[in-house]
Amino acid sequence: MENVENNRTQLTVLIIEDHPDQRDLLAIVLRREGYRVITAANGVEALEKLNQEEVHIALSDIMMPKMDGFELINKIRNNSALRHIYMILITARIQEGDRVRGLDLGADDYITKPFSFSELLARVRVGSRVVQYQQHLEYQTQTDSLTGLFNRRAFEKKIGEEFERSKRYEHPLSVLIFDIDNFKIINDTYGHHGGDAALIKISEILRDKTRRSDFPSRYGGEEFVLILPDTDQESSLQVAKKFHDEIRSCSFGTANKPFLLTVSMGLASTSIKEYSDWRQMVDDADRALYQAKNAGKDRIEIYLPQETIRPRQASAH
Ligand code: GH3
Ligand code: MG
Ligand code: MG
Ligand code: MG
Repeated sequence: MENVENNRTQLTVLIIEDHPDQRDLLAIVLRREGYRVITAANGVEALEKLNQEEVHIALSDIMMPKMDGFELINKIRNNSALRHIYMILITARIQEGDRVRGLDLGADDYITKPFSFSELLARVRVGSRVVQYQQHLEYQTQTDSLTGLFNRRAFEKKIGEEFERSKRYEHPLSVLIFDIDNFKIINDTYGHHGGDAALIKISEILRDKTRRSDFPSRYGGEEFVLILPDTDQESSLQVAKKFHDEIRSCSFGTANKPFLLTVSMGLASTSIKEYSDWRQMVDDADRALYQAKNAGKDRIEIYLPQETIRPRQASAH
């Protein structure tokens, strides 16, 4: 599972410099400080690298063949996927106008040649702090504070991306929504803390038992949603059954006061209906969940265009 907080451990720096000796020297110095370093000889190469891997800080020379530093900054700042890279320009002392132009184009900082490595490293550390602060904010805005799972905002961002990807590559995409049955009674019987602890335990089950590419999140109060990329309706039903059983057989509460929980699940998949918008797919999964509740809870329902079929339940009914 992705976790923005994990990216904090090692930052990647891209060095863009046409002079091979200077490029190598910069790479050595930055690697020694613990950064992951990749290099490019000009703006064109830099954009290729940026398309291939995630970069946090870019250190760019201005004068380079093929594509200079100005054009590169301009392209990076106008690309929504690259916009947040912290950019440091490397300029010659005589180029004061260039420094102003670079900053106006969107550079975060500049360093003047010839430079001392200690100053360069200090400026890269400033960039690291900015990047880490951004990551922290991103983590907070995307994480549910009770369970540590992704929140609804993160879910909506992710499903938008996965939906586009599934269309582009013609891969199936499924969505599984589930809601804890009679949770109000759990709260009334075991207190709000007991309810909270159950929500946390379910989140742990989701986190531990999902594939890397799957994306579990807390959709609302006692509702969870799983994005299942590259998964058709049949396979997503297997996933649903696994979690349905897992939660059913899990003991919640304390050793003195244990209790059981069941969930109702709704599934929708692009493998059984063509969607033009991911919201329609989520609505269908929600509709299937509603059917599961109406049919007596503790079950999985799949949304079908004409009717909602009820799969045979392995454990219940
Ligand atoms: P159903 O089987 O139809 O889903 O019934 P339900 O009782 O689960 O559903 P209802 O919508 O009536 O109640 C949901 C309950 O979930 C009420 C609400 O207080 C509780 N809840 C929502 N968020 C939290 C939370 O963060 N912590 C705790 N402890 N309870 C929560
Ligand atoms: Mg140069
Ligand atoms: Mg409920
Ligand atoms: Mg609910």
